[in-house]
Amino acid sequence: MRTKIVATLGPSSMNKETMRAMVDSGVRIFRLNFSHSDAQAFVPAVEIIRELENETDIALTAMGDLCGPKIRIDEVDGSPVTVDKDCDVELGLPEHKEKNQSCAYLSLGVPEVLKGLEEGMTVALSDGMLQFRVSEVITPDERFRLRALNGGLLTSHKGITFPGKSHALPALTDKDRKDLHEGLDIGLDAFAMSFVQSRADIEDIHVELQRRNAWVPIVAKIERENAVNNIESILALADAVMVARGDLGLECPLSQVPVIQKRLIRACRHAQKACIVATQMLLSMVENPLPTRAETTDVANAMLDGADCVMLSEETAVGRYPVEAVRFIRDIADTAEAYYLERVQGPYPPRKEKNLIKYMAYAASILAETSDAKAVVAHTTSGATARLLSSRRPAHPIYALTTSQPVQRYMNYFWGVRPRLADVTIDSHLDRSQKFIQESPEFRSGENVIITSGQPTPGQTKIHTNQIKVYYK
Ligand code: PGA
Ligand code: MN
Repeated sequence: MRTKIVATLGPSSMNKETMRAMVDSGVRIFRLNFSHSDAQAFVPAVEIIRELENETDIALTAMGDLCGPKIRIDEVDGSPVTVDKDCDVELGLPEHKEKNQSCAYLSLGVPEVLKGLEEGMTVALSDGMLQFRVSEVITPDERFRLRALNGGLLTSHKGITFPGKSHALPALTDKDRKDLHEGLDIGLDAFAMSFVQSRADIEDIHVELQRRNAWVPIVAKIERENAVNNIESILALADAVMVARGDLGLECPLSQVPVIQKRLIRACRHAQKACIVATQMLLSMVENPLPTRAETTDVANAMLDGADCVMLSEETAVGRYPVEAVRFIRDIADTAEAYYLERVQGPYPPRKEKNLIKYMAYAASILAETSDAKAVVAHTTSGATARLLSSRRPAHPIYALTTSQPVQRYMNYFWGVRPRLADVTIDSHLDRSQKFIQESPEFRSGENVIITSGQPTPGQTKIHTNQIKVYYK
């Protein structure tokens, strides 16, 4: 399987037996969600992940998902309150709430998000089930009258969204900073950042990492409209992207989410960054042993769109069939990937720019095809060579041979990449690759393998792929 599976851990799956079965069926990244826990609760899971890594000899990635500024209203008096279509409620800072409010008051102590709210804008509550339009600005930036666009139940502490509006609210909250540092302390390998709006948010998390001289890949969760618009600059800094369809479907018109998904996946491949498609992939499997036709088709379509990873959330965290859900994705991948490769008809040629290293990756992919090679083995220090190869989408497996364990675990996000550790006792990158092929039972004698490497020649300062070899075992 070339597509990678990300599985969220939770009560249904946070045990060795289930996690082992998930790894056997293709999970390479486990997601630990800081929305419900803190780092201490993840210590046993990280231990199991490291044990499984040793026992299976497969690199596994533990990804912490930082919750970001999810905005919730305060207590609602008399909750739950029935709201009828066309009735009015008020929204404002807590201090504007009056003793004898004639209508329900949505108290929100986050001035940054109320700032700039204008008449005609939409406000959504309860996962979008309750929609309002701002009908009057009572006090600019502080207090507003809202008209209900539909009826429903209003309850305390529900999430509130302002579709399409941008806020002066950084993605990295104080809780996220704490979770990041504690997560690094317990050995998490990667972090996802929620509600990223621009590259400045990624810069904030880089500052935190630099403070302790750490490097881990950062996954930007795209779930706000301005993040979609800023995707190019976000991709320049992020190591991977998540199409976080849950919140994205609240912040953008839900009807546009399928096309936004396609555009984001495409942008990621062009930037050689991995793309995870997430949320409600096989949601009905929380309760049922089989998914719906629509879910099955959705997973296959994410693969045909070119996603690097698909992610399971509730399905594996709290569902009744965590392992079955993973197996179902693996089974979908069998036919979806074959069809994808049939349709793209060979590796993607680089477009436009005169970019030598992209052409080297393309050339290696083409050589693998024409020489009927078993695989491409890429010696890669930072992972860049393997990312470039993956972005050409060759039919052949890409073995990323690296000296760094963090890079090895990062490579788990990339389509078709099988990360392996290189033997550092050998100096030459080419010799390391040859030794790997020679010793690996995955290659038989008589088979040929394409090797790419980028060992700097004396005096060369910039390291990039400068060598392709057809190696016969
Ligand atoms: P969440 O992110 O589950 O942490 O909210 C994913 C999404 O919004 O789709
Ligand atoms: Mn989200």
